[in-house]
Amino acid sequence: MALVEQQQFEAVQAVRIGRFTRRFNTTVLVYRLGNTLIDCGPPNQWKVLQAWLEAHPPQQLLLTHHHEDHCGNAAALKARLGVRVLAPEASLPFLRNGFPIQLYRQIVWGVPEPVAAEALPEKIELPEGFTLIPIPAPGHAPDMTCFLEPNQGWLFTGDLYISDRPQYLRKEENPHQEMESLRHVLSYNFQVVFCAHRGMLPQGREAIQRKLDYLVSLRQQAQSLHRQGYSLRAIQHRLLGRESEMSWITMGHFSKRNLIEALLQPPKENARKPAVEAGLR
Ligand SMILES: [Zn+2]
Repeated sequence: MALVEQQQFEAVQAVRIGRFTRRFNTTVLVYRLGNTLIDCGPPNQWKVLQAWLEAHPPQQLLLTHHHEDHCGNAAALKARLGVRVLAPEASLPFLRNGFPIQLYRQIVWGVPEPVAAEALPEKIELPEGFTLIPIPAPGHAPDMTCFLEPNQGWLFTGDLYISDRPQYLRKEENPHQEMESLRHVLSYNFQVVFCAHRGMLPQGREAIQRKLDYLVSLRQQAQSLHRQGYSLRAIQHRLLGRESEMSWITMGHFSKRNLIEALLQPPKENARKPAVEAGLR
């Protein structure tokens, strides 16, 4: 039940796993290219992942960022299967020391065991002849990193994409930085996107462009309404509608309000101020 589906695109294999299988954002894909895994799913799906890997254990694991649905089995892969774990430099302290995980995330994904990972090199040459180049793409998380296969035109995007038209934002995400990252990855040559939640997107380049256009336009509209004197709540209702159950299930950690509030903050700001302090209502 928790293994939702398997996918294959040319040499890339994938498995979708998750405890709650009805929504795409409560399941996650683990990608495999030869003997390399890209992300490894949530800790509560170890048994399912282990069964998928049993016949051919991988040799190395590349992590896109530290979130528990991506790094959750890194410790087990390293300790039990001897897999080498590589992660962005900025992920290493999170992986080693842990990080705050809200209750809803613990219920959906579980809590990962700490793991000592090695920092990614500038380029990873796979024994199967593929090359993966890490491209930092912060915004969703400060350590968010994509992997480009330049000869195939593939981009493994972790959580950079997820949706064309996001309606919600986690409190600590920075959408201004994410827009810069979307713009930055578009400066590389790629066509196919491998998203950790949406799966394989043959028209991935266009999807990344659509997300960028949407966020730029949403920011312009929010700022324009703010200049006209509308409250944060009124702007949210007008552009995204009322909050859904997502907001109360997550106790406001994942909400429409967060997205509008963040878009109205000055773009350079990394640590966001509370709405009141920033002159928002
Ligand atoms: Zn994430």
